Amino acid sequence: MRKRWISLLVTGLLVGGALAPATPALAAPTFRVPFPCGQTWSGQTRSDHSPAYAIDFNRTDDAGDPVVASAPGTVDRVTDLGGTSYGKYVRINHGGGYSTYYAHLSGFNVSVGQTVGYGKVIGWVGSTGGSTGPHLHYEQRLNGADIQVRFNGSLALYWGTKSYTSGNGCSSGSGNGTVDTSGTPLTVRSGPGTGYASVGTVADGTRVTIACQTSGTSVTGTYGTSTIWDRIGAGRFIADAYVYTGYDGYIPNVPRC
Ligand SMILES: [Zn+2]
Repeated sequence: MRKRWISLLVTGLLVGGALAPATPALAAPTFRVPFPCGQTWSGQTRSDHSPAYAIDFNRTDDAGDPVVASAPGTVDRVTDLGGTSYGKYVRINHGGGYSTYYAHLSGFNVSVGQTVGYGKVIGWVGSTGGSTGPHLHYEQRLNGADIQVRFNGSLALYWGTKSYTSGNGCSSGSGNGTVDTSGTPLTVRSGPGTGYASVGTVADGTRVTIACQTSGTSVTGTYGTSTIWDRIGAGRFIADAYVYTGYDGYIPNVPRC
């Protein structure tokens, strides 16, 4: 976590481990920025966009730049609408009712029925359809309805323009963090929640390597309230609300457990 909201009396939570109902597993895929690893793009949202939660992506000289699948799935539409609407667009079905749209492409690199993974080039940025200049029009949908875009679990900016750096298709790695409890040792759990058994503690100030992150019970800690839990070893999880990672949400490129 990054934001330090309120200094809290945390001892009870740390040691007692308040029992909270387990959070249901997130059904949403982990979507990533739809461009190759390491690239930074300007993404714009605006309330008069159609549909409203779509993002238009640009960067300098972007015509012809590769567009990549933002999550694993199956391509279920590769369509050219000509000079109207999306123009050349690709839709990927990610399962669970989730799909993504990539519009105004200059060309296609996939076909219907093809299975794609993170970082797979599906086409190239263009200005086809109802577009006045090269850009990627990108949408996430659930059961056909436009939803607010999330990358790696973090909500996109609504409304406005923001830079997004892609962690898509990067070799997945581990992350780092520093435990910050203002003195009290942090309880390590056998799973991602306060209801799991305590399997030890880590001292305040300990540097930890985070192999993966997942969603578990909500914990309020040094950096606010979060359902994110960090796996720091086999059967060893700590609440991300007490870990300084430099990120408000999930750490880019660190996989989900
Ligand atoms: Zn658009």
